[in-house]
Amino acid sequence: MNNFESTLGGKMPAPSAVGKLLLALWQNDLRFKRSGWQLALLVAIAAGAIVYGAWQQEVIHNFGALANAQSATIFYMVPSLALGTQGPSLAALLVWIAIGRALFAILCAWLDMVFHKKITGRAFDWESMINVALVNGLFSLGALFAVLNQPIRNLLAHYDALVASVPTLVDLNGSVALVVAVLIGDFCFYWSHRLCHETRCFWNLGHISHHRNRNLTQMTCAIEPGWLPLQAAGGLALLLLPVASKLFTTDIRDAGVALVVLMVIDTLVDPSHSIFLYWLESKSRLLRALRAVFVTAGVHYMHHSNEVTGPHGTGVNFGARLSVWDRVFGTYAEPTTELPRTGLFDPEADLCVNPLRYVLRPYLRMGLELRRNKMSDWPFIVFGSTDYEPPNPVRMSR
Ligand SMILES: [Zn+2]
Ligand SMILES: [Zn+2]
Repeated sequence: MNNFESTLGGKMPAPSAVGKLLLALWQNDLRFKRSGWQLALLVAIAAGAIVYGAWQQEVIHNFGALANAQSATIFYMVPSLALGTQGPSLAALLVWIAIGRALFAILCAWLDMVFHKKITGRAFDWESMINVALVNGLFSLGALFAVLNQPIRNLLAHYDALVASVPTLVDLNGSVALVVAVLIGDFCFYWSHRLCHETRCFWNLGHISHHRNRNLTQMTCAIEPGWLPLQAAGGLALLLLPVASKLFTTDIRDAGVALVVLMVIDTLVDPSHSIFLYWLESKSRLLRALRAVFVTAGVHYMHHSNEVTGPHGTGVNFGARLSVWDRVFGTYAEPTTELPRTGLFDPEADLCVNPLRYVLRPYLRMGLELRRNKMSDWPFIVFGSTDYEPPNPVRMSR
């Protein structure tokens, strides 16, 4: 791994005490010995991270809110359904499925830890889990910044006004509306996610964080930084979706039993970074049959494989819930029987088991690229394709 100090060039002044501390914080990975006081500290921090992670889930810290919810998300990327529009028994059933979905995600995260050795042959990566908990905490603060940022809110208000002028072409209702809403939601997600992989700024300043981990599980999965409004995989989808939803308005209130079926499927595929579900899928023909239409845990885990680059060299399986769009656009890859290795395609990439490097390294790298190259190259460095290399490349691991 090349550290940034060796890439800065020139003579560096001797660092002060604060400088030395910062350098040590930057360079050292979070590692604990598996004996003595270091083991005791690791167990205490890991237990704290697990309890804190569970507590952050609404189903644990505010069960009442979920049990008395006025609306429910039936399927990812489909606008939520007002439960008052349903009969009391169907509304109650949907609430219980929503609770079950949240508990199932927590259960899968824990099963990943328990069965990690059996499934992967390697010990669970506790340091990665602690690091990701810290990183995710920092990244969620970024989301707060984006929401509070007045210029961003002004821009979104202008965008809302623009969307209002989009004409409606088709009005749909019932089960047909539900199917179309699912197709539209995933179409928007597919293209925004693919753009995140293919465009330098979205990839290098955002989505790369979600793909860095080489020991990926539900508990070691980093979210994306929220401080740039459009870099997260869902960001562009959030802009595309209102337009698509205005063109094809979908009223899913009368979809009846289809609501229940889709919500159960959403529950099954929601823990999409679970190695336990990947393993279960490899044993169950019924679960594998779902891949024909849906992005099962196995299909999304393949998206994180560092072994399958796909036709565009940037990856496969970009859909969130449907495998349909990947099949249509030629980016679908069937999950392998063995769990694939995850992480970035570059084998020299920094694992960043260090929250500072995890958060800042991609920004530092792009900053150095801008410094090393002419201003005329800057648009390509920021907005170019991810396979673009600037004329004066930065010799520093990703
Ligand atoms: Zn991705
Ligand atoms: Zn993912």
